[in-house]
Amino acid sequence: MGLSAGAFTSLELRGVGRSFGGREALAGLDLTIRAGEFIALLGPSGCGKSTALNCLAGLLPLTHGSIWIDGERIDVLPSERRDFGMVFQNYALFPHLSVAKNIAFGLQMRRLPRAEIQRRVAEALALVKLEEHARKLPGQLSGGQQQRVAIARAVVIEPRLVLMDEPLSNLDAKLRLEMRTEIRRLHQSLGLTTVYVTHDQEEALSLADRLVVLREGRVQQIGTPEQLHDHPANWHVADFMGYRNLLELRLESLSGDTAVVAGRGLRLAATAVQEVVVGDAVRVAVRPSDLVLRRAGEPAASGANSIEGVVNVVEYQGREFAVDVTTPDGVELHVKSDFAPEAGSTVQLALDPSRALVYAERLDGTAL
Ligand code: ATP
Repeated sequence: MGLSAGAFTSLELRGVGRSFGGREALAGLDLTIRAGEFIALLGPSGCGKSTALNCLAGLLPLTHGSIWIDGERIDVLPSERRDFGMVFQNYALFPHLSVAKNIAFGLQMRRLPRAEIQRRVAEALALVKLEEHARKLPGQLSGGQQQRVAIARAVVIEPRLVLMDEPLSNLDAKLRLEMRTEIRRLHQSLGLTTVYVTHDQEEALSLADRLVVLREGRVQQIGTPEQLHDHPANWHVADFMGYRNLLELRLESLSGDTAVVAGRGLRLAATAVQEVVVGDAVRVAVRPSDLVLRRAGEPAASGANSIEGVVNVVEYQGREFAVDVTTPDGVELHVKSDFAPEAGSTVQLALDPSRALVYAERLDGTAL
């Protein structure tokens, strides 16, 4: 019999909020998490991700709202009675206890029989591939190994939910990628319901079934990686999803969702994806990979916008180049290219109107 996840059907956050001294760190978070889902809470520093996680964990009392598991209200329960496993950025292992004892700790607190504890600890050690390190102290392990111990300790109690707060932030880039795969594997093999906090959109996109993007304590968008990547709800989410070009222009005309935007020497056909009114200040979001650098003499694709600029910086990024181009009126554009143009040369960029997303400039911070 292997380790498994505690069973429930759905976990519901209803209007969950938390204030500190009258300031809302998290406001009105509504979210239903299905069993087995991997949810990432994503957003810049200070947006309220950790506050949300700590409210779930029972480490912070709520100031508004409630949390339910299958009709049972759980925000009133103390942390240890929620049956959640926690993994923190700094591992939070007991330095004086061996790896095996660290993993066994939660089971001993639950007063499980000795044989059961031994069996589960052995399984958890095998799961994170640390069998040979069972007797070592955490200080004798690498950062990645210590984080594996922390993960084993979280899953060994067969938790109803695993909460992870930036678990990979202290690891170097290579290890971070390895552990990312490891976390995904564990999630799949154990069917763990997971809530994972990160500020790294790539990490969130690669791990999560659904993402919750927060800004200043408020939900901006909840969706699958594809939904967020292809249809950001506002320019803030677009910015977070890698639309590095956010052009501040004015809406010149609009017919259906076909827009013309202009300003700073540019005039572009684009696509309105939010309610905007002619004359409005807008943000036009464009991914670097959607600005196509044309080779000399290459004709423009029909219907595409053509933008002229001078190449500023060319940076090799393995297989592709990150190119910064400045237009005559000083608009800086970030471009991805499969060839390296010469710095200082004048180039033409093609932009498909369907790839230039027009958003309202104003962000009121409320959920969309
Ligand atoms: P980070 O990635 O930097 O941890 P975060 O998105 O997790 O950021 P939170 O730690 O949840 O953000 O903080 C959200 C807001 O609440 C911030 O403005 C923060 O200063 C404030 N805050 C968090 N904890 C406390 C506290 N104990 N007392 C007062 N203010 C707090």
